Amino acid sequence: MKIGLFFGSFNPIHVGHLIIANAMACNTDLEQVWLVVSPQNPFKKNKSLLHEFDRLDMVRMAIDDNPRLRVIDDEFRLPRPSYTIDTLTYLQEKYPQHLFRLIIGEDNLMQFPNWKNYERILEYYGLYVYPRPDAEKSPLATHENVRFIDAPLLDVSATFIRNGIREGKSIKYLVPERVEEMILRKKFYL
Ligand code: ATP
Repeated sequence: MKIGLFFGSFNPIHVGHLIIANAMACNTDLEQVWLVVSPQNPFKKNKSLLHEFDRLDMVRMAIDDNPRLRVIDDEFRLPRPSYTIDTLTYLQEKYPQHLFRLIIGEDNLMQFPNWKNYERILEYYGLYVYPRPDAEKSPLATHENVRFIDAPLLDVSATFIRNGIREGKSIKYLVPERVEEMILRKKFYL
């Protein structure tokens, strides 16, 4: 299978993530998209970052009924901080039958040459890029292994949602209903 990997901290997962993941899984030649939940980075202590198991649970609930989406927790067991190339290499060894592609936002393309072993990522895996507002045009845009996929721009971030919760605002429709219920029930981000 050809599979797109969408990395994130998903703190929490929101409609912005889900719309991209679904567009990639349904409107391209990718058969599935796997959401790869990042563990805590020991060098970046962040109080508002929920425990990785709680973030994983929320992703699970969010994609529960979608056969084209799957959540992956393998980075929890890899050395930290986890570099994308190391996770890609690990997953390719674990699933030799699959072809992996990396999904990134256009805003990340400009910085992409600073990523560890970016040339190897480009050559072996290739990028599926979704539009982001105000993204600079990158020289990599014309690379043969970089594909642009049309998807709606949605101005929602996990930070916006966490701040809203802290301010007592509603997060209805910004996250799936079951995720909202879990956040409220477990009093996350208060
Ligand atoms: P935070 O606000 O905590 O930084 P985030 O909403 O950006 O979180 P991440 O888990 O860091 O969420 O996101 C994973 C990936 O999804 C990142 O590459 C991020 O740029 C991208 N992303 C986040 N929000 C959106 C959105 N609304 N539309 C498209 N991509 C998004």
